[in-house]
Amino acid sequence: MDGMTSRDISAEIDGASGYLTIDLAALARNYARLAGDVAPAGAAAVVKADAYGLGADRVAPRLYAEGCRHFFVAQFVEALRLRPLLAGDARIFVLNGLLPGNESACARHGIVPVINSLEQWRRWADAAKAAGRILPAVLQFDTGMSRLGVPPEEREALAALVKAEAGIAVLFVMSHLASADDTESAQNASQLAEMQAVAAAFPQFDLCFANSGGIFLGQPYHGVLARPGIALYGGAPVSGRANPMEPVVSLDVAVVQTRTVQAGARVGYSGTHVVTGETRLATIAVGYADGLPRSLSGRGAVYCDGIRLPIVGRVSMDSITIDISALPQGRLTLGSRVELLGPNQTLEDVARDAGTISYEILIGLGNRYQRIYR
Ligand SMILES: *Cc1c(COP(=O)(O)O)cnc(C)c1O
Repeated sequence: MDGMTSRDISAEIDGASGYLTIDLAALARNYARLAGDVAPAGAAAVVKADAYGLGADRVAPRLYAEGCRHFFVAQFVEALRLRPLLAGDARIFVLNGLLPGNESACARHGIVPVINSLEQWRRWADAAKAAGRILPAVLQFDTGMSRLGVPPEEREALAALVKAEAGIAVLFVMSHLASADDTESAQNASQLAEMQAVAAAFPQFDLCFANSGGIFLGQPYHGVLARPGIALYGGAPVSGRANPMEPVVSLDVAVVQTRTVQAGARVGYSGTHVVTGETRLATIAVGYADGLPRSLSGRGAVYCDGIRLPIVGRVSMDSITIDISALPQGRLTLGSRVELLGPNQTLEDVARDAGTISYEILIGLGNRYQRIYR
């Protein structure tokens, strides 16, 4: 077992009742496709939240092998975990910036903070002084999302600080799009105009702008480095359009019991579903503890042989009951598997039924599945 991560080990444990397959070759093809779309600009990879739940320890090295050298995480702790898994020429960026006290560790581990405020700039400059060497940084600007980054009214003050500071090497400036998945949104052009104002205030630096959706808004949004996340993992980068990305994840779950019930039978917690005629049911071993939101109660479905099997009653913590009356008798028995994600049901389908977005479904996929990396 030497050199194996906990996830490798868990993939070897028999006894799981759900099987999450992560197709690393499809991930690599998605990266190559996006990199081709933005060339001659570069393509980074956003691997925050454990690579959107898929395992940063497997995803990031695979993308490195595909030529990726820029990796974005959200939190410093994620950068610390990722650092030993990637070669020294891989840059790791912390989108949320640094909390006070993390500066010297950040410098020591060669991690690049995204500087979101004047205070963070000053602290990083102090860290450079303390380290006695020039430290790298990225500057983030708020261009209309009001979430992270230096606000417009502080741009000039930051420009003055940057000019006076020899201890920090700014690698590029960045901003984030709020509505890039909606090609019709007027917010895209307005953020692009703000980004051009940032570029005018910092003409010496390159720009980093597009997320997955931004890549599909076209070349003006690309800058020198795009930052796709969801599209790498097979999620649709643009809503309301055919998804150009290859699926990366599939999920199959075991049946743990079947039964036939008669009209009037109640199904699940609070008896919300009442059967109207003789009905065949199966209980499958997946619940909200495994990332299938409770909002799928009475709404979503799973598939077997391409046939839709609706979820009936409430989603429990560890199980879901489905109506299997549409299948031939005996098709599903103890231990049979049904499809939750796969050829018949995409991430977007599940997200729509759950009233959420593909990101939240992906990230929620739990740790009780056997994870199979292909
Ligand atoms: C999460 C994130 C991304 C990636 O967004 P996707 O829509 O998943 O491509 C890029 N940039 C920033 C700042 C982010 O927070």
